[in-house]
Amino acid sequence: MTVSLEQSTIGFIGAGNMAGAIARGLVKKGHDPQRIIMSNRSSGKLEALQQELGIRITTNNQDVCRSANVVLLSVKPQMMKDALAGLDFTSVDCAISVAAGLPVAKLIEFTAEQVAIIRSMPNTPSIELCGATGLYASQSVREQHQRAAEYVFGAVGEFAWVDDEGLMDTVTALAGSSPAYFFRFMETLIDAGVKQGMDQDTARKLVVQSALGAATLIKNHPDIAISERRIQVTSPNGTTAAALDSLEESGIATMAEAAVNAAVKRGKELS
Ligand code: NAP
Repeated sequence: MTVSLEQSTIGFIGAGNMAGAIARGLVKKGHDPQRIIMSNRSSGKLEALQQELGIRITTNNQDVCRSANVVLLSVKPQMMKDALAGLDFTSVDCAISVAAGLPVAKLIEFTAEQVAIIRSMPNTPSIELCGATGLYASQSVREQHQRAAEYVFGAVGEFAWVDDEGLMDTVTALAGSSPAYFFRFMETLIDAGVKQGMDQDTARKLVVQSALGAATLIKNHPDIAISERRIQVTSPNGTTAAALDSLEESGIATMAEAAVNAAVKRGKELS
């Protein structure tokens, strides 16, 4: 890459939820919106994003490849082949796919081996710049391409590289799908509070803030083990101990492991 990341043009093919979230993050981080170009099949979402962010838009995917140093491939997996057919990527430094389950080998085939490919698996909290993204670099990816991916996904949260493509299914299980597990757990806690006689709004406020607080405490103090935090708030024979004993008796660890295994298995079936 001959230009700095701040000066580079970042392109998107597909203007859906994920592309919109990442573009918002980049603009919020200070990336010049005129150095973001996005294409889409239909024009409605493009016009809305242009109005909101001031980015450049087009309904021609080749315009993106012509202008951008880095191109995010952000259409649904089943639409990727059509979206990329016949595109000339020769002036693009690297292409980053956000498509769930689409292997690098397919992406190389769809781009006719013209460009270095990075696979990413972001999650929906990226919309709030709190995303967790897993990244995998194909063989032709160079260090400057990796820095470009980190620049993009660092704008919408945290990222981590995996060095084995097979682990992208684990990324899906631990990050892509996992917000839904936490949503479900929050739902069940709120319902339990309502059964105790509390009104829904109060239960929701208390549970959501506790989830945010717990995650913030863990994130802001990486030197303290999660288990240590748990032990700190669990007085022997106290209320937390009673609740945790009940969770363990219900098999919380087995349930979590089975859920991750199920997501990994389904990811492999779908790819
Ligand atoms: P989405 O909202 O449906 O967006 C996909 C966009 O692609 C649509 O705006 C669609 O345009 C456009 N499109 C389809 N074919 C096209 C073509 N040939 N040329 C240009 N644009 C085309 O989907 P999304 O939720 O953002 O997901 C996009 C990708 O992100 C998927 O591959 C998904 O696996 C991945 N992903 C999503 C999430 C998530 O939580 N949302 C998480 C991780 C990964 P029209 O509106 O005109 O149909």
